[in-house]
Amino acid sequence: MDGDGATLANLLREERRFPPPSGLAAAANAGADAFAAADADGEAFWAAAAARLEWAEPWTQVLDWSRAPFARWFTGGRLNVAANCLDRHVRDGLGDRVAFHWEGEPGDTRTLTYADLKDEVCRAANALLSLGVRAGDRVALYMPMIPETVVAMLACARIGAPHTVVFGGFSADALRGRVLDCDARVVITADGGYRKGAASALKPAVDEALEACPDVRSVLVVRRTGQDVAWTEGRDVWWHDLVAAQPAEHEPEAFDSEHPLYIMYTSGTTARPKGILHTSGGYLTQVAWSHWAVFDVKPEQDVYWTAADIGWVTGHSYIVYGPLANGVTSVLYEGTPDTPHQGRWWEIVQKYGVTILYCAPTAIRTFMKWGEEIPARFDLSSLRLLGSVGEPINPEAWIWYRQAIGSDRCPVVDTWWQTETGAHMISPLPSVATLKPGSALRPLPGIHADVVDDTGKPVPNGSGGYLVLTRPWPSMLRTIWGDEQRYIDTYWSRFPGWYFAGDGAKKDEDGDIWLLGRVDDVMNVSGHRISTTEVESALVSHPRVAEAAVVGAADATTGQGIVAFVILRGGAGGDGSTGDALATELRAHVAKEIGPIARPRQILVVAELPKTRSGKIMRRLLRDVAENRELGDVTTLTDSSVMDAIRDGLPAAA
Ligand code: ATP
Ligand code: MG
Repeated sequence: MDGDGATLANLLREERRFPPPSGLAAAANAGADAFAAADADGEAFWAAAAARLEWAEPWTQVLDWSRAPFARWFTGGRLNVAANCLDRHVRDGLGDRVAFHWEGEPGDTRTLTYADLKDEVCRAANALLSLGVRAGDRVALYMPMIPETVVAMLACARIGAPHTVVFGGFSADALRGRVLDCDARVVITADGGYRKGAASALKPAVDEALEACPDVRSVLVVRRTGQDVAWTEGRDVWWHDLVAAQPAEHEPEAFDSEHPLYIMYTSGTTARPKGILHTSGGYLTQVAWSHWAVFDVKPEQDVYWTAADIGWVTGHSYIVYGPLANGVTSVLYEGTPDTPHQGRWWEIVQKYGVTILYCAPTAIRTFMKWGEEIPARFDLSSLRLLGSVGEPINPEAWIWYRQAIGSDRCPVVDTWWQTETGAHMISPLPSVATLKPGSALRPLPGIHADVVDDTGKPVPNGSGGYLVLTRPWPSMLRTIWGDEQRYIDTYWSRFPGWYFAGDGAKKDEDGDIWLLGRVDDVMNVSGHRISTTEVESALVSHPRVAEAAVVGAADATTGQGIVAFVILRGGAGGDGSTGDALATELRAHVAKEIGPIARPRQILVVAELPKTRSGKIMRRLLRDVAENRELGDVTTLTDSSVMDAIRDGLPAAA
């Protein structure tokens, strides 16, 4: 990402522009005024955002950065996060508003109003107390996408017990590692959940994980599928026995603004998972504000849907805490997008009248692969705003999303953020931004980002480098659980005083930011640094390609050679080879879009790509394949058979 001309050309050629719809601009929650306020006085801006919440005690200082990089926001303030998400809305007369339209994969449904959710959370809080959980104790959750998962998180928050949610798709090993790392004493799980049309067990993985976790004393088990489970007397308790028997009254205690709210282990796309610690006041302030401003939510009208797993930070911030803090009605869906048919999401949008949809580029590219005739069969006219998160969105996928899902009418907000940032950081505000497909545009009000070179010097417009955040923000991680040194080393040492995000980025001629993927994934071909994102976007811009993953593999002559794994539209191929003609055409296409230097050495058609549950491509595994090595850690992969299929289908390694 030295911003050499060859790699820049591709992005700068993206000239499609989409100004804000006039209706949205006229009635927006936040716009130019928010930028002006934040520029005038950043701390006052965040104080006003915090004042959207209910505090039991006011703060005395907005930001204490005296022990940088260990931040304290709203010091001295006290609040209860769960009461902010539930009790105050019920008290304000909104108890009958639907909090969640829950849709199980087999088609069963539940509707929970704010009043229902508050009662359930109080019962669950009382249940946890009866199990001896106290403020500060960690509770691990290993759950399907069911209402009890939200209830359990909020019950933990209500009693000040930090939760750590582990993806239901992770292995027993991954669960054990996380339980031990944060020393959780109670685990909440279910017998299983529904995925891809079948009951998929969860409890056996908990039993296996806990063989090596002697300090876990209780396992609270939700009955979801009714499948048989092994039972450890004295340790295991059914949710429906314990929780249902509790009173629906629980007086929320106000905790310090810096009281730990949760630990989220990063998905491990690149390295050993890190326990990212988020605290209460600053976190809730920024997730609530960003959810309100970026999605322009109107709680009286909108039906909001984050189609992501709760076990990912996106689920924490934009299924649970942000939407509930704002009193919004949401959809919660248990299953996969193709069960029982490939139109399931669109059927849900139609059924509930979803107005705002937030999902990952990987899902969008999958829908592209399946074909636009599938969403076209449903009434998607309720949609008014679309969001993207998780990876850089290729311009072609962005355009497809806007057209095939958004009827060429809905703005698409591309939101850049991380587990570590807790909330949106770089994203358009749809009321004022003229959108550019593939760009997250600018830092949000109150956020300060830049792109710097190797020496930490900001690059000029038109150049690329490393993304940094130059000032603390309310929902920033406070540390890595149990490892302050790793926190300092990972984020604050590369460019002292600034947060190093680990992502490459480019500023265009207007100063707008284009994310280029992880620094670790950048390829070096004959001395040129080329971003995976750009080559992938070039491939996806070819009409036959739905999705692409590109890696740099050791090459005797060029240092690294580009190896591309592609999925074709309509799902053709998958035998690891391409017709020579198509491979030649795709290589030429990339050369034309970016420059000859970016022409892939090898193109392999595959049926699937290895992804984490949050939908990120695990390029390091593809690199292992491309370099014919043993595979690295696959514990966070959604489906490890994908790697076998890729290997088996490949021609003898190059
Ligand atoms: P690990 O750090 O263990 O690999 P992870 O980074 O995959 O885990 P997340 O915190 O969910 O887990 O992902 C954050 C990363 O996702 C960002 O650093 C960035 O690379 C990518 N990302 C998220 N949103 C966007 C976006 N809108 N545009 C580009 N990249 C994005
Ligand atoms: Mg990361």
